[in-house]
Amino acid sequence: MAFNSYNKWCYGWGLRVVRRVVIISKIFKLCRQIVGSKQDKGTIEAKSQPQIIPRSEHNISRKQFSPNAIKVLYRLKDGGYDAYLVGGCIRDILLGIEPKDFDVVTNATPEEVKRLFRNCRLIGRRFRLAHIVFGREVIEVATMRGHHLSTGEGDPTSKASDQGQLLRDNVYGTIEEDAQRRDFSINALYYSINDFGVRDFAGGIEAIKARRIELIGDPETRYREDPVRMLRAVRFATKLDMEIAPATLAPITELAPLLGNIPPARLFEETLKLFLSGKAEANFLMLRELGLFKELFPSLEEILSQDNSEFERRFIQQMFANTDARINGNKKVTPAFIYAALLWFPLRNRAALLQQQGIAEYDAFMQAISQVLSENAQRVAVPKRFTLGARDIWHIQQRLDRRSGQRAYRLSLQPKFKASYDFLLLRVESGEADQKTLAEWWTEYLKQDVTGQKDMVKNLGQKDRPKRRHRNKPKRKPKQDT
Ligand code: ATP
Ligand code: MG
Repeated sequence: MAFNSYNKWCYGWGLRVVRRVVIISKIFKLCRQIVGSKQDKGTIEAKSQPQIIPRSEHNISRKQFSPNAIKVLYRLKDGGYDAYLVGGCIRDILLGIEPKDFDVVTNATPEEVKRLFRNCRLIGRRFRLAHIVFGREVIEVATMRGHHLSTGEGDPTSKASDQGQLLRDNVYGTIEEDAQRRDFSINALYYSINDFGVRDFAGGIEAIKARRIELIGDPETRYREDPVRMLRAVRFATKLDMEIAPATLAPITELAPLLGNIPPARLFEETLKLFLSGKAEANFLMLRELGLFKELFPSLEEILSQDNSEFERRFIQQMFANTDARINGNKKVTPAFIYAALLWFPLRNRAALLQQQGIAEYDAFMQAISQVLSENAQRVAVPKRFTLGARDIWHIQQRLDRRSGQRAYRLSLQPKFKASYDFLLLRVESGEADQKTLAEWWTEYLKQDVTGQKDMVKNLGQKDRPKRRHRNKPKRKPKQDT
């Protein structure tokens, strides 16, 4: 009996152990699967303990910082807050590039920052920030972001759309949480004025060495939170001459349509950064390849994707190549020219369509301009100061071949004449052969002095002369005797 009960007890104990082992091994397997799948997907996690690179082991010296950024760091520190230089400026200095701007992150709230600086203005609703203004330089101070626990309707700090897009991102947190909320590992590097060390939360230093753009966290979730990160991935890849990591690259084409949920004013800012980066041609090619360009300029992409659009593709690519050459040669570039070029073919197609519908040439052109500009504003809101310039460039294209009398001279005095002449050259350069003689004529005209210019106009063929208009003289009313 005793033996029997002992046996039973042993058997029961053994069963419990086996069951526990099975459960533990199942949990272990599950964990391995989760971690494994993250590794397979190449997910990068921001750690709670950063790797600290001490002053002696990095090449960042305070001389490379803007003195204003240093002032901001010390003022925050003296006010009792933590403050770090973060993001692009640290990344760029490590890569030997001069930073474009200096971003500061602190544990002071925007209101607390405002109390410390007289020259501070608070901006943004979706993402509240403090701008400290020093003449033309602005130091952007962000408060460390935390996780979104609530997505409730009435929550003033956090709000997400049904597609996972963060419509409000004002939950504040610790530096560890802030690092997780940053976009790419190379941008989650923090420089402290306390010890002059760099804190690396997500393997950013390693990624810089490997020249790899990788999102922190699950790529699809991070793109859904903010689809603009897809455009940023492209911009950093070309600017820094890096590769987008496979897991970061993979979801882009499928998620590209999410850009349709971004306010057009923000997309304008982002396209401008892409086009004025000195890498516009490379950005254009990569944006097209990944299906992002279509979401920004759908009517142009429709034209470019046709088989017989060799000329149009060359025109746009050449325009970006010229823009890069000007930027890299420190010459001025007007965004009006870029947007005029991007909408030129949709405009011409629309004008032709309206003419087919029986509208007179000039009216069709005018209507097409309004339609194309307002359709584009639904996607990319180009400010009026640039659309006005684009209109001028388009109008002048129509008038460049009317040169007789005072016309050439008057046209050459128009504020957008030089841009319009460059636009004509671009058309010829990309293969518009029938404009070649006209472009050569203008090139010569611009080289001549006043007498030479007058001679050129005189020598224009008969067909270029203005047609005499025969006006009927108004009949005078006979004077009436009073
Ligand atoms: P650059 O100034 O050269 O364009 P940057 O990396 O400094 O590059 P900013 O737009 O100035 O880019 O942003 C500063 C930092 O803020 C980034 O480095 C990144 O850490 C964070 N950040 C900016 N935009 C986002 C975003 N959409 N999602 C997550 N983090 C972002
Ligand atoms: Mg920056």
